[in-house]
Amino acid sequence: LSQLFRPLDLLGMVYRTIRQGVIDMEAMYKLIDTPTEVGDRPDAPALKVKSGEVRFDHVRFGYDPDREILHDVSFTVPAGRTLAIVGPSGAGKSTIARTLFRFYDIQQGRIMIDGQDIAAVTQSSLRAAIGIVPQDMVLFNDTVGYNIGYGREGASQAEIEAAARAASIHDFIMRLPQGYDTRVGERGLKLSGGEKQRVAIARTLLKDPPVLVLDEATSALDSRTETEIQDVLRNIARKRTTLIVAHRLSTVVDADEIIVLDQGRVVERGRHADLVRADGLYAVMWTRQASEREEPVSEPALSDLR
Ligand code: ADP
Ligand code: MG
Repeated sequence: LSQLFRPLDLLGMVYRTIRQGVIDMEAMYKLIDTPTEVGDRPDAPALKVKSGEVRFDHVRFGYDPDREILHDVSFTVPAGRTLAIVGPSGAGKSTIARTLFRFYDIQQGRIMIDGQDIAAVTQSSLRAAIGIVPQDMVLFNDTVGYNIGYGREGASQAEIEAAARAASIHDFIMRLPQGYDTRVGERGLKLSGGEKQRVAIARTLLKDPPVLVLDEATSALDSRTETEIQDVLRNIARKRTTLIVAHRLSTVVDADEIIVLDQGRVVERGRHADLVRADGLYAVMWTRQASEREEPVSEPALSDLR
């Protein structure tokens, strides 16, 4: 497990990114987990996104081929709809997000966007189509304006501010000593988890991708900020194909479909009400979270579900 933060790799990546002029912020996300080189096939065409349907078709994957993590995972997210992925820690939720972004090639099955196998198209076109709001955002050692504007090359200050407003971070930025020109990151102002997440959301809003992947991590936030961020996320999910890794089930009540993942298998699927009625793993999780909602001071919220 190489979950360690490696500053030298990061520097190299930032350098390459700047040199290539590629808008590939999500590569940052990759660094937090294991980078394995995945290459473009010769003459690979660009992905052509029409409506943004995402499909996992009998996907089998293990980081180590001898230890399969995803066992025959299948689902379809119709264009514009929302799929929520829930389940215990280690179930493979983030792995699904990583394979969709093609940080890794799967061992069996297919992952498709609008009928095109993601392994057959160029990585740059795939990554341009998907926006990820990760759990732990890594910021550039640059200004907060740069960090948001990175979502789209050539974005104007007005567009950056509009995205920041939509992500509920504009007012905060205006109170910083130099506003949008304030330096942030390791060598600048330290932002809180919630502030970084809102910067990530603003950047994704600017990128305006047809497919959105949200790794919700709002349990660390105070409840007002959490509600605010969830409203923003709901809004940006509305018109696009969205995969949400949900830690709090209250955020998936409205999802078009929920899959419950346990040890790399889809053990239940359906809408919220169906799953509560089915009285399986989802119902157990829901009941437990309901009691935690009633006693807010008792336990830290579901850190075991992450
Ligand atoms: P979840 O997001 O549901 O908590 P993950 O998808 O992160 O679960 O992990 C699923 C399984 O894959 C776990 O057993 C985890 O230990 C393993 N795993 C995750 N990342 C890696 C990695 N980079 N290398 C090897 N194993 C990994
Ligand atoms: Mg995870």
